[in-house]
Amino acid sequence: MNKETNLTDMILDEGVIKFNYELIPAPPIELHEYQELENWRKKLFKLKLIGEYPIEKVGYGNISKRTDHSPNSFLITGSQTGHHKDLKGDHYTLILNADLQKQNVTAKGPIKPSSESLTHFAIYKASLEIKYVFHAHSAAIWKYMVEHNNDFDQTSENIGYGTLEMAEQVQSLIGNKTYGTIVMKGHQDGIIAYAKTPEECGSLLIDLVERSQL
Ligand SMILES: [Zn+2]
Repeated sequence: MNKETNLTDMILDEGVIKFNYELIPAPPIELHEYQELENWRKKLFKLKLIGEYPIEKVGYGNISKRTDHSPNSFLITGSQTGHHKDLKGDHYTLILNADLQKQNVTAKGPIKPSSESLTHFAIYKASLEIKYVFHAHSAAIWKYMVEHNNDFDQTSENIGYGTLEMAEQVQSLIGNKTYGTIVMKGHQDGIIAYAKTPEECGSLLIDLVERSQL
């Protein structure tokens, strides 16, 4: 297999939901619930940290925020919404619960959840203090983080997104931390920021944009 085929496989793999999910239909999410996330999403979209691979037409990047509906519930962008500049209430959905071992997700909302919802769930489960998770894609940042492997937490090359292995590895990398970044070596261009506030979470990514461009 040549490199180009690998890349295409990887990108096309991006939007595939690898878990079982139950979606309880519900009306669009109300603005006050997603406004804060949306404000940050707009910034990340401008920086192309969220978007769509132009040739394959596959969206990338998803962000979430912990909610108080149930212990590890969170609001997340819907599957394949990466190409939209602005999202509305029908592009967000609520994850009520998940089971990492069984690879099950229970969601409630107007759209099926992001294909990376299980990874977000694993991060929220790692610490109750983590309130925001931003998953972005950037070839430059990814390369920078992989090259500076002493400075950044990294998941293994042979672990793909949305798998139990990814969830377990992310949790062990987080340990007791309440904010930080992770580069997903087995998920080309994939990076994660997690934090207690959206400002902290967004700044972690913006800082990496700057550092990787130096
Ligand atoms: Zn991704």
